[in-house]
Amino acid sequence: MEQRLKIIVRGVVQGVGFRPFVYRLARSHDLGGYVANTDQGVTIEVQGEKARVAEFLDRLRTDHPPLAEITDVEIAELPLNSRKAFSIEGSTSVGEEEALVTPDVATCDDCLRELRDQDDRRYRYPFINCTNCGPRFTIIAHLPYDRPRTTMRAFRMCPACDAEYHDPADRRFHAQPNACPVCGPSLTYVAEDGSEVRGADPLAAAVDALRAGKVIAVKGLGGVHLACDARRDDVVARLRARKDREEKPLAIMVSGMEEVEALCEVCPEERALLVSPRRPIVLMRKRQGAEISDLVAPHQKYLGVMLPYTPLHHLLLRDSGMVLIMTSGNRSEEPIVHTNPGALDRLTSIADGFLLHDREIETRCDDSVTRVWRGKELIVRRSRGYAPLPIEMPVGCDRSILACGGELKNTFCLTRGSEAILSHHIGDLKEEPAFDSFVQGIEHLRRLFHIDVQVVTHDLHPDYLSTRYALSLEGVRNVGVQHHHAHVASCLAEHGRDEPVIGISFDGAGYGPDGTIWGGEFLIADLGGYERAGRLAHLSMPGGDRATEEPWRMALSLLYRVFGEDLPPLRCAAVRERERRGWPVLARMIDVGLRTPLTSSAGRLFDAVASLAGVRDYISYEGQAAIELEMAADEREPGAYSFGLSVEPGEDGKEVLVVDPEPMVHELVSDLLAGQEASIVAARFHRGLAQITGQTAQRIRDRGGPGTAVLTGGVFQNMFLCELVAGELEERGFEVLVHSRVPPNDGGISLGQAAVAAVRSR
Ligand SMILES: [Zn+2]
Ligand SMILES: [Zn+2]
Ligand SMILES: [Zn+2]
Repeated sequence: MEQRLKIIVRGVVQGVGFRPFVYRLARSHDLGGYVANTDQGVTIEVQGEKARVAEFLDRLRTDHPPLAEITDVEIAELPLNSRKAFSIEGSTSVGEEEALVTPDVATCDDCLRELRDQDDRRYRYPFINCTNCGPRFTIIAHLPYDRPRTTMRAFRMCPACDAEYHDPADRRFHAQPNACPVCGPSLTYVAEDGSEVRGADPLAAAVDALRAGKVIAVKGLGGVHLACDARRDDVVARLRARKDREEKPLAIMVSGMEEVEALCEVCPEERALLVSPRRPIVLMRKRQGAEISDLVAPHQKYLGVMLPYTPLHHLLLRDSGMVLIMTSGNRSEEPIVHTNPGALDRLTSIADGFLLHDREIETRCDDSVTRVWRGKELIVRRSRGYAPLPIEMPVGCDRSILACGGELKNTFCLTRGSEAILSHHIGDLKEEPAFDSFVQGIEHLRRLFHIDVQVVTHDLHPDYLSTRYALSLEGVRNVGVQHHHAHVASCLAEHGRDEPVIGISFDGAGYGPDGTIWGGEFLIADLGGYERAGRLAHLSMPGGDRATEEPWRMALSLLYRVFGEDLPPLRCAAVRERERRGWPVLARMIDVGLRTPLTSSAGRLFDAVASLAGVRDYISYEGQAAIELEMAADEREPGAYSFGLSVEPGEDGKEVLVVDPEPMVHELVSDLLAGQEASIVAARFHRGLAQITGQTAQRIRDRGGPGTAVLTGGVFQNMFLCELVAGELEERGFEVLVHSRVPPNDGGISLGQAAVAAVRSR
């Protein structure tokens, strides 16, 4: 019995090697018909023996290329025809080219086998790839995606590669970066003295340097890494000193799962992320006594680990047999270096040697950072391997939107209907190089996706470079979105929701429309708007921005708020500094509000407590004090500090609930005076804050507020707090939404802005 079916497959099925896969599958099942990309997805017609057609359908779902994600398969029966052959048809619409920008993909198992096969013509070739793996987004200059429009245009395929490229039965059919040692990119090693090694030896030279304890720059997929021995304190200390990165944790790369397990406690979901084709850095609990330098991630419970994702990484890790630090090649907060001249110019003071190659990187793309919370991914930095895959928003808009994001951890976002194309990680938009990268990134993605921007949305902070850029664009409609509303909206959007929720945004800082700095907010919000229903009490920030860099200032502010001039005899930096610097001046600053903005920021409250507890008085990277307070907390400690809850009139006459830290400060101070450990103090603060957060949400719901709560903002990268707050809310019957596909930090802001602007532009 024969059967003829028309099958439409939807999901991520274009530009991922799906058509050649279908071709091979159909041929191996003796089916006639065709496969084509259409604007509906991939359309297939097959005809053949009924049992074979059924098996074809099964394997279509189970054996598809690793990058493909099938969301829907539609099947219709057709009358039989006489077609016996199977073919790949050209695309039937212009929509195809837009669908074809896929993220970069880690080296697949088939290529790895060849890489290690002495008889293969690509044995140990550092640029081996196929239809299922290799560079994509980072090498595409224009669309449609084919070789002349990628940075592979510089390499002409040899006859053997060309034959593979044109053979539909070959796994390198239309693999645009296809290459081999004869025709493709090659390595160079530039040593300390400027001498160059080419040919087969560059890798060996790099491995020798690593073994000798040198720091080397390694050009990879989306940029240049700085690599060195992660087990030697002296080496890691040297890297830190040269990179001007005192304590911020560094990511490491290890050769395989066995090595990961030796360093970290790994759950099945973490394992799945580690080995996924996206190959992010996964934050996992570090094992006691893990064989790694303490300087890699000082004061941390977690280690950021990734597996090799390019053939070059595989060779480097296997040949060296080392655990390597693999951190972004940049000087402090500059964007990651992604060109050979850039590496030799910007990184000479950091790296002792340079392992470079001649395949250019069109778009720089940092490693993604992710983690698992309650068995689900909770991404921290969404970049390589993820960008520029679109995220489906619950709202569509006829007009195309550019969302410019925030200032720190910037990403931007473009929309097409209800699709949000979230950019790769741009970084902190404080300096000129990062801003250039932001502008270039926007132009590049606009060009790739043919997006003619009509609406531009931005943060309310007038001094953010992203805001200034948004307001400088002509002929567009501008939509300003409050920072924390954008945080809440981003979480709603990624969950496909748009009804009102209690958005709990605990964050570092965001521009408040009332002239204060927001960051500990309870907003009744949907995508269209918000109402401030509650907040943390205001704290003064003596010295303005300096209070962010010097948590002892926040500690002093908190003590002053509670005790006035009569400070308790604590042995902490706040009390010491008050003696040394002359308290009256600072007190007067706070009293008259001179260079002393008010903030409801949860991040600053964490800073204050971290300093009081003796954990951190000065920081060397954003959020350090709050992070170390989380790390210090003894999770088994059941105690909790008390907070007050009062009612104050808001701007529009409505009442706002205010979380008062005063009782907490009294209990904290008496604990400290009694000599209580920082681990206990930190835990009690976390639990107390979680409890009052639950109570505040409940009060808001009791007054008619929504029964769903959203947890968002940078502070909710604190897994201990996230778990406690979610638990408090669930106990009270709330549905709790937490981020998964976009970061809770400012990397998610642009998606939220886009969703808000989509609603407001309808
Ligand atoms: Zn491959
Ligand atoms: Zn070749
Ligand atoms: Zn924020």
